[in-house]
Amino acid sequence: MDLIDRLVGNAEEWAKGFNAGELAVQPTLRLAVVACQDSRLDPQSLLGLGPGEAHYMRNAGGTVTDDMLRSLVISQRFLGTREIVLLHHTDCGMLRFKDDDLLGDLHAETGMRPTWAVETFDDLDDDLRQSMRRIQTSPFIPHRENVRGFVYEVETGRLREVKLTDGSDSHREAGVNWRTGNAPD
Ligand SMILES: [Zn+2]
Repeated sequence: MDLIDRLVGNAEEWAKGFNAGELAVQPTLRLAVVACQDSRLDPQSLLGLGPGEAHYMRNAGGTVTDDMLRSLVISQRFLGTREIVLLHHTDCGMLRFKDDDLLGDLHAETGMRPTWAVETFDDLDDDLRQSMRRIQTSPFIPHRENVRGFVYEVETGRLREVKLTDGSDSHREAGVNWRTGNAPD
């Protein structure tokens, strides 16, 4: 049986037992979760969340890109979310290649480079801090007080928090003010 046909069959079974038609469009916990698309990372199960409680934005890496910011702006401004959890994870595919590898292959195969950034990273904690900073410095996101980032360990099932003040990444050492993105006066 074709995979997607099987999934459609699952959905028909789902509808038979469905009783969540009264859920509101606004997430009841006023929470947005930004996570990698990895198949081993199941934010709802991991965080103990149910339907109707949170928004989930996912991409390769769980990196805060312009499109993630677009979704977060809509989530906060129109649908009432106030807190943001960022989830990266160990053994992420984005640790396994470099931006230029993919860009070079795409250009060689198609004669074009994409207009989007690939956003691979070498260090999970640094990329999480960058993602938190991109939220903290976005003028479009009204609620930036409760943004926390975590690494999920696919080997152990455990979650580890990464704080903006942790580590010694080069931006802090260079004296850049992460709240404004500017060097100090
Ligand atoms: Zn990943």
